[in-house]
Amino acid sequence: MKTMTCRDLGGPCDLAHHGESADDVINAQDQHLKAAEKAGDASHQEARDAMKGRWRHPKRAMGWYKATKQAFADLPDD
Ligand SMILES: [Zn+2]
Repeated sequence: MKTMTCRDLGGPCDLAHHGESADDVINAQDQHLKAAEKAGDASHQEARDAMKGRWRHPKRAMGWYKATKQAFADLPDD
């Protein structure tokens, strides 16, 4: 298991996501941003919009996705 925070994934807070793969933590962040949006948390809106844009334009998001995967791969195991 490895840990990435909301901030590592472009968000504004230090909530930690744990996962076996980069996709796990990206999905956890996606859920976290959705929940924040629902709760009316304006501080997460920018990150939420960016994430939404990535799902909509997966080709354009490739750079971010690759960088996040690399960052995850470089992390030590928990
Ligand atoms: Zn957050």
